[in-house]
Amino acid sequence: MARKLRIAIIGGGIGGLTAAAALRARDYEINVYERASSLSEVGAGIQIGPNGVRVLYAMGFKPQLDAFACSTPKFVSLTFDTAQFRLSEPLSDLSVGKYGVPYLTMHRADLYDALVKDVPDSNVLQDQNCIGAFTRGDVAIARFEGGREIEADVIIGGDGVRSAVRESLFGQDTPRYTGQTCFRAMVPMDVVPKAIGPDKANLHVDNAGWIGPKGHVICYPIRAGKMLNLFCGFVNDAWAEESWTVPTSQDEMQQVFAGWSPILLDILSHAQAGFKWGLHDRDPMQQWTKGRVTLLGDAAHPMMPTLAQGGCMAIEDGWSIARCIDENSNDIPRALATYEGERRPRTSRVQLQARQQFLNNKKVPAPPPLSREWIFAWDATTGKDYTA
Ligand SMILES: Cc1cc2nc3c(=O)[nH]c(=O)nc-3n(C[C@H](O)[C@H](O)[C@H](O)COP(=O)(O)OP(=O)(O)OC[C@H]3O[C@@H](n4cnc5c(N)ncnc54)[C@H](O)[C@@H]3O)c2cc1C
Repeated sequence: MARKLRIAIIGGGIGGLTAAAALRARDYEINVYERASSLSEVGAGIQIGPNGVRVLYAMGFKPQLDAFACSTPKFVSLTFDTAQFRLSEPLSDLSVGKYGVPYLTMHRADLYDALVKDVPDSNVLQDQNCIGAFTRGDVAIARFEGGREIEADVIIGGDGVRSAVRESLFGQDTPRYTGQTCFRAMVPMDVVPKAIGPDKANLHVDNAGWIGPKGHVICYPIRAGKMLNLFCGFVNDAWAEESWTVPTSQDEMQQVFAGWSPILLDILSHAQAGFKWGLHDRDPMQQWTKGRVTLLGDAAHPMMPTLAQGGCMAIEDGWSIARCIDENSNDIPRALATYEGERRPRTSRVQLQARQQFLNNKKVPAPPPLSREWIFAWDATTGKDYTA
């Protein structure tokens, strides 16, 4: 009997854990090497469009998602200062009818817990700071701080936007500061007004965006509707901090958003002081794979959060690489070429559209959002366009 393929995943983020769970479900021998001393996610929400939900359902996570995720019926866009209705577009209302799966919002930690449950503790190694990966003959090798090396049949670099695996394969390349900084905050739903304005954007169930020339705020329910998550992005020419995330204060949040709708500022006043993030991305890459080492998620295609798709792409990548390895398990170079061929054009296009959406958001008046339907319609579980 042929021995099981050994697959090493560097980084236990959303993408790495999706790949780990999808490969384990196919009975491959996997190990996840995570730099942090525990597996955890930032205290913030995440939106998962139907393309990501489809993968999570295929992996058997529907019962967990049903317990904590919120299906937002529509997106409602409001003006930043007077909270006037601008436009709305269906999310779950369209998604369920068209694709059979909803558009979901959730706390990242809840998604993490669901993904981690499928990966045994013994296969997740923490405090593992990878400094690079390469291929020698038919063996993939990852090197860690201190000089230790591990061998595998395939190494997947899922180590995020500042990926050490990427740098070791393709050289140093500094991520681009996108000109946008954000605050991330959560407030209990019972301090949030239900209906806003004559057109009644319902902040308890809808996905609502407040758009102004210098920023945009997106809020949506998480934790089965018990909390409201706020992403508060603003144009900020320079990110002077060395770290990408630094503490902020209630005073700073109120100051940056001074002049915005009093309803929004009141909601924000209930948020505990949190963190601000400098948002970075990179240009699409020309290549992800060298030998038996490849990349996924933000390591391969970090993007602006304007389409809420970076995590969804990482989830799609995780499933896709498991499927491509499984379908070509006797020919790893072919498996990785198939994976990259399927994923790179799509994720590159999403990266560029995310940038364009950011530019559009700054226009006065801002045009309607660019269509994400082509993104939603892709079925990563089969590698086919859902609408084709
Ligand atoms: C403000 C904001 C809002 C967003 N909103 C959304 C949204 O609504 N929907 C959506 O789909 N996406 C969203 N995204 C994007 C999404 O968060 C990312 O695309 C996603 O987290 C990428 O997952 P990943 O697993 O590739 O990388 P990460 O989540 O960055 O995980 C990388 C992992 O690798 C580990 N690691 C790093 N370096 C090493 C090393 N050298 N050795 C070992 N381990 C290492 C890290 O500790 C981490 O655990 C948003 C992003 C931001 C910044």
